[in-house]
Amino acid sequence: MEWEVVIGLEIHAQLSTASKMFSGASTEFGAVPNAQACAVDIALPGVLPVANSGAVERALRFGLAVNGNNADNISRRSIFARKNYFYPDLPKGYQISQYELPIINGGTISIVLKDGQKTIHLTRAHLEEDAGKSLHEDFHGMSGIDLNRAGTPLLEIVSEPDMRSAEEAVAYAKAVHSLVRWIDICDGNMQEGSFRCDANVSVRRPGEPLGTRREIKNLNSFRFLQQAIDYEAKWQIETLQDGGTIHQATVLFDPDSGETRAMRSKEDAHDYRYFPDPDLLPLVVTEEWIERVKGGLLELPQAKRERYARDYGLSVYDAGLLTQSRETTVYFEDMVGQLGTEAAKVCANWVSGDLAAALNRDNLDIAQSPVPSAQLAGLVARIRDNTLSGKMAREVFDAMWRGEAASADELIEKKGLKQISDSGALEAIVDQVIAANPKSVEEYRAGKEKAFNALVGQAMKATRGKGNPAQINEILKKKLAG
Ligand code: ADP
Ligand code: MG
Repeated sequence: MEWEVVIGLEIHAQLSTASKMFSGASTEFGAVPNAQACAVDIALPGVLPVANSGAVERALRFGLAVNGNNADNISRRSIFARKNYFYPDLPKGYQISQYELPIINGGTISIVLKDGQKTIHLTRAHLEEDAGKSLHEDFHGMSGIDLNRAGTPLLEIVSEPDMRSAEEAVAYAKAVHSLVRWIDICDGNMQEGSFRCDANVSVRRPGEPLGTRREIKNLNSFRFLQQAIDYEAKWQIETLQDGGTIHQATVLFDPDSGETRAMRSKEDAHDYRYFPDPDLLPLVVTEEWIERVKGGLLELPQAKRERYARDYGLSVYDAGLLTQSRETTVYFEDMVGQLGTEAAKVCANWVSGDLAAALNRDNLDIAQSPVPSAQLAGLVARIRDNTLSGKMAREVFDAMWRGEAASADELIEKKGLKQISDSGALEAIVDQVIAANPKSVEEYRAGKEKAFNALVGQAMKATRGKGNPAQINEILKKKLAG
């Protein structure tokens, strides 16, 4: 019988505030160890935390964005709680988080898969502070502690166990990643740890209650997320098939071996002895504040995706590719603005096709593209007026990418790339080809389709690849019929 994989994700997004969640210390990445941990962060006696309104505002933006701009998932009053545990990188002995009353309850994220869309439900999103970092590199045989990260604001985004494969989990994580960058609450830098995923994985027979989950901690790339879930699901299925049982546990993924292994048996919430932090007032969010945040929200990825599909006749999948980042939509909309709605489909193909491939190859963001939107629009204009064939357009694109000219027109001029669309000139060439290839003509007339392609090939060759293939086809057909 079949097995079903069930996945729920907890994502930690580091909020892009200049200072920490409860202190004025800087959150800048990369400082020398312990240069950015103030008295509050290391919990010296007598200090008091004060919540950072910039972090709260970012949480509000997220809450509205995952709820169609409706504020009914935002707690007007939420509570900071202490999560108590001992670990060297947590000098306070507790982490300030939210437990019973988080700032955001519910919401949805819609993901685009090759075969359609799916809605993933959010359980909650809550504010908390990050811990410091243990450094286990060679340090005179000892470990070091860097407390710069202690107190950095995080939004922990918890999904329902709605995903059924590693592909769905990755699509969801990518959608959240693109959303937090879109609404400008997190820089999304996964190498620096600004966006980390914990994956909860269980397996079951379809229709049965949920199985026991194991939680894979701290996955900091989409590829590792995919590999870790695939490995873990396979391991659980094999364990159960061999008559074993799954015990709830926290596991780590080892990218070198591609395996997950148990780190500790899982704590339950009561092990943390959560209680409201007596140093912090309840977090109150006013209607005015919510209205102000609402007013500042831009069109969201999902709305844009639906609009692109509707107005430009794109598939939802193609529209989804364009709305992966705000910068991509700016680039695309710029092109459509210059060329008009009728050109949108060709523009979309170029942005998600050749441009995306080149950016990917050279590891660049679209905002750093050597070919800006105006240049690509100029190129698409020459495709649309038949100056360039698809093949020539690619050549021009590559040359512009290398910086050989500032516009498609300049390159066409320089390289003599003009496609021949003058029907008089093409007719003359086709006449010559027919005269020079009586055998192919005879075969075609006898019903051999292949002979036709050979004649088109000859005509293209005679134009040195610059003939408009569609026009040559048409002329040739007409002449051979006559
Ligand atoms: P904790 O904070 O202790 O890890 P939560 O109740 O916050 O626990 O749940 C964590 C995540 O685990 C959520 O994303 C939830 O969807 C997911 N989850 C819960 N039960 C299962 C299960 N049986 N299989 C897969 N994921 C699960
Ligand atoms: Mg957890």
